[in-house]
Amino acid sequence: MKQIEYAAKIGRELTSAEILPAAAKALGVKQDAVGAWQVVRRSVDARGSDILYRYKIDVYRRDESPEPYRLEEYRDVHEAEPVLVVGSGPAGMFAALKLLMRGFKPVILERGKDVHARKFDVAALSREGRVHPDSNYCFGEGGAGTFSDGKLFTRSSKRGDIREVLHQLVLFGADPDILVNAHPHIGSDRLPVVVEHIRRCIEEHGGEYHFGTKVVDIERLDNGFLKLSCKVSEPADTASETPVRDTVFTARKVILATGHSARELYELFQRKGWAIEAKGLAVGVRAEHPQWLINKIQYHGRWQPFMPVAEYAFVTQVEGRGVFSFCMCPGGILVPSATASGELVLNGMSNSARNGKLANAGVVVQVEPSDVPEEYARYGALSMLRWQADIERKMYDFTGSLKAPAQRMMDFCRRMPSRDLPKTSYHPGAVAAPLHELLPEPISWRLKLAFPYVGNKLMHGYYTNDALLLGVESRTSSPVRILRDAQTLESPSLPGLYPCGEGAGYAGGIVSSALDGIACASRI
Ligand SMILES: Cc1cc2nc3c(=O)[nH]c(=O)nc-3n(C[C@H](O)[C@H](O)[C@H](O)COP(=O)(O)OP(=O)(O)OC[C@H]3O[C@@H](n4cnc5c(N)ncnc54)[C@H](O)[C@@H]3O)c2cc1C
Repeated sequence: MKQIEYAAKIGRELTSAEILPAAAKALGVKQDAVGAWQVVRRSVDARGSDILYRYKIDVYRRDESPEPYRLEEYRDVHEAEPVLVVGSGPAGMFAALKLLMRGFKPVILERGKDVHARKFDVAALSREGRVHPDSNYCFGEGGAGTFSDGKLFTRSSKRGDIREVLHQLVLFGADPDILVNAHPHIGSDRLPVVVEHIRRCIEEHGGEYHFGTKVVDIERLDNGFLKLSCKVSEPADTASETPVRDTVFTARKVILATGHSARELYELFQRKGWAIEAKGLAVGVRAEHPQWLINKIQYHGRWQPFMPVAEYAFVTQVEGRGVFSFCMCPGGILVPSATASGELVLNGMSNSARNGKLANAGVVVQVEPSDVPEEYARYGALSMLRWQADIERKMYDFTGSLKAPAQRMMDFCRRMPSRDLPKTSYHPGAVAAPLHELLPEPISWRLKLAFPYVGNKLMHGYYTNDALLLGVESRTSSPVRILRDAQTLESPSLPGLYPCGEGAGYAGGIVSSALDGIACASRI
């Protein structure tokens, strides 16, 4: 086998007439001795005078055959030892799938509703502005990644085998293109089906799901088992705000994959004196541009409707701190991703077609625990969490609703209010506000310097008053790290407990959280 590279003008599939000569040359054989070929990577390159699809292709001689990627088989675990998995986000789901492969019975405890019931709460959230504390854009089956852009991109290949995640997603209904695209994504319209198929597989093999089941306490019993106390809503799909009964689950091993917004659990850890520490995170705004403008910038004015809509990503440094774009959603919409009333947080999502008229991205500044005002030091490991929560509350208090404080980009940088606002995809609406004052000063002035820099040096046309900034993007990662042993991945305070995924501070994004779930389950 050899790998060849090939570039084709975008909008056209490769033909074997194009591949064969290059394949024969690479393999050192005649064309009729070339056997199979398989595209393993496809990316769009808009740098030159032609816009190209660049392919990496594995080519084989006739006497060789491609080794197909093989997933471990899921075993029947009806009678197997249970492992409790708290949270059904990417970390929890992929941990559960790995447990099936290794012959353990995953018992998933999820505070929210199944993905279909959850859809109604998420829709009502934007429409009525009421945040259900257990069923929202962060909580419920599939976790925070369900109603998202479904970007499956991670910079870190060290965390594990990304193919294991992608191949399972395809098995459960994602488009096989995600296996080859350089920037794969699934889309909010398709993710719920994938999430449901994962549940069906887990249940058919003997695993269990308990929806409407919120873990509120953890204890270690004398026999070494862990006991989880839960508040349960019944029927589970109501996940009512006033749970109707208490229950407990016990097991030798527990994977805690509760995401970055399960604030009560961080408080529990602190109350009990279990090992946690404050963690840096990034905070800023969501920037929304017309998608046609982003297409124009990224494709240098040569975008055509048959081409993929343009994405962007940038990183820069301002006064010793990273300022970067985060979770860009081409053709997407902004959504309210708060998990409690009285707080305002924005995030972005898009459908598989990415065909909305606007493009949004977080533009955020890295903040370390040492950067936040001294008064937060008294909260110890929760200092970043309290600081994050105060910013979200301040944004909410400004508008008194889920409407977002907003300012045009150049007005923000000139520190003047906007007289009017351009259209936004954010359904609850936007209110003209002095975002430059509402954001903490070290964030505000770094953004003020970053936007013109990006517009002048990195993406000509990006710095424009046609772009709207909305506050606040504050849940980029966990504000707390739950410590764990580097080898066993167990909490040093609670052997048998595996802090996992984004909420534990070991991942950020769908793929890396899924990989961390696989890692924790593999250790078990
Ligand atoms: C709107 C939006 C769009 C996003 N878009 C992308 C994207 O395109 N690409 C990307 O890579 N990332 C994206 N992200 C981030 C990504 O979703 C997260 O990084 C990822 O979901 C984290 O996975 P996780 O399993 O660690 O935690 P989560 O997905 O947060 O899952 C945690 C789960 O635990 C449950 N839970 C919490 N507390 C308890 C409790 N006490 N008891 C029982 N259950 C509990 C929650 O209900 C939830 O289901 C997006 C996030 C949001 C909100």
